[in-house]
Amino acid sequence: MAKFRGIARPDAGNDLRVLRRWLWGLGLLLLASGGFWLWVTWPNGAASPPGVQPRDEPAYATPAEQHFTSIDPPPTPPPLAGAPETCDGRDAPEGAAAANAASLSSLAWSPFGKPETGWEIYAPRIAAEIGTTCGPGSNGFASALARWQGAHGLRGTGVVDPAVFGTMLVRWHLARPFVRVNREGMCPGAPPEASLALAGPKESYGGKAIRLRPGALEAYRKMVAEARAAGALPRPESLTIFSGFRAPDADAQRCARDKNCQGLRRTICSAHRTGLAMDVVIDAVPGSRPDSSADANRLVMARSSVYRWMVVNAPRFGFVNYAYEPWHWEWTGEPLLPGVPISSLPQEGSEPITEPADQPTSETPAYGSAARNRR
Ligand SMILES: [Zn+2]
Repeated sequence: MAKFRGIARPDAGNDLRVLRRWLWGLGLLLLASGGFWLWVTWPNGAASPPGVQPRDEPAYATPAEQHFTSIDPPPTPPPLAGAPETCDGRDAPEGAAAANAASLSSLAWSPFGKPETGWEIYAPRIAAEIGTTCGPGSNGFASALARWQGAHGLRGTGVVDPAVFGTMLVRWHLARPFVRVNREGMCPGAPPEASLALAGPKESYGGKAIRLRPGALEAYRKMVAEARAAGALPRPESLTIFSGFRAPDADAQRCARDKNCQGLRRTICSAHRTGLAMDVVIDAVPGSRPDSSADANRLVMARSSVYRWMVVNAPRFGFVNYAYEPWHWEWTGEPLLPGVPISSLPQEGSEPITEPADQPTSETPAYGSAARNRR
């Protein structure tokens, strides 16, 4: 018996261990299949569709998670096809539409530090922000603006004024990862030039070699294909690129040459160093360059089908715009690269920074000029 027990005990122990292992196995299998079921059925569990940005907001100091995505909430969806937006806006605040219609071309203000008259240049951007397709002087526009004001802690006057615009401008600035990093006193890094992709001849304006980070170029191509299919591109030049990646060295050289590095017109830290920013042809007064920031030029852009399509649709492809420059767009689909403190860059001739801006380049030909290269 002793021998039997001696053998029997281990046998019984084995049975128990086998049973325990079997139960563990069954439990793990149930867990795994339950997990899989959750994964396939959980809302939004799958990868985001193209153009939809996750809402994470990592700090600049963590290079591993440097994905600065747009924090701009998606604009109010436009009315469904078949249910056209009515612009009679019966709930519009009294007198708001008339006030907007008058100020559209007469408001005296300085939204970007220099005096401007009227706000029509910004009307497409404002309309996209408040989610309306109604004209800026309509009751429908005033009504949509009043709703937007209410949703953003402002009095619902339905009237465009510098304070309302200022609130929108902060949101638009903060939607740009580049600006958010700049506000922390940092200038993002430049990608290795060998990693950049070259735009095709038909994608470049003025025959320049345009280089961008490959993801940005791919997103640009998808966006242009859709804009073309939507009939929003009236000319062969529409949305061609006249500036992409610009090496930090070039910025530094120009800075030293001009003795002017930081300001509305000149900055040592240009968004174009990221390889994610691009300047595209929107429109221009004949004879003007497509990056001329003359108000008359920007007004032509604001009235164009290209810009109107872009302000509504480009965010779906991950692009954000600098409101002062209808031509300047930054792609937010990939992280900015770790950078350096702006204070470590050359400061010669600096002015107080109002907003990082483009430096118009003399090589960019005028729009409508005979000299331009149509490639
Ligand atoms: Zn630019």
